[in-house]
Amino acid sequence: MSHDPKKINRDYASLAPFFSQRLQMAIQEAQDQGLSIDFFEGYRSPNRQDYLFEQGRTREGKIITKARAFQSWHQYGVAADLCFKIDGKWAWSKSDPWDKVHEIMDDFGFEMLSWEKAHVQITAGMSISKAEKIVQDHGLMVLWSIIESDRTGPRN
Ligand SMILES: [Zn+2]
Repeated sequence: MSHDPKKINRDYASLAPFFSQRLQMAIQEAQDQGLSIDFFEGYRSPNRQDYLFEQGRTREGKIITKARAFQSWHQYGVAADLCFKIDGKWAWSKSDPWDKVHEIMDDFGFEMLSWEKAHVQITAGMSISKAEKIVQDHGLMVLWSIIESDRTGPRN
């Protein structure tokens, strides 16, 4: 296994199965509505999270995250970042219609962050410190089953 912190994981299978399934459905719906959005990043190792946290702080670049290792839902397999694509290439633009994407994600029960447009997660209102404790005591599968049973169902 690669532990390169620069490597982006786009494997749906490294996410919680309920999350992964719903993400694929929501992205398909967005694409069907003409939005060229796709799955950019999913599971993120603690090592990579710390690497990203360093950007704009101890390493040059723009600050891109508020979270250190285990403070992001990406470490728990229930978060993903989306990105628009132009001609098959990832592209960021101020004019990207994120409001339309967020409407669809909301319909599928995803939670969004006000400060990070590209990010969607499903936490069922749990705090990240509680999630960390559940994983330490019982493992990731138990966390996933708690979140899956407590989450809000799709509204469409
Ligand atoms: Zn994210």
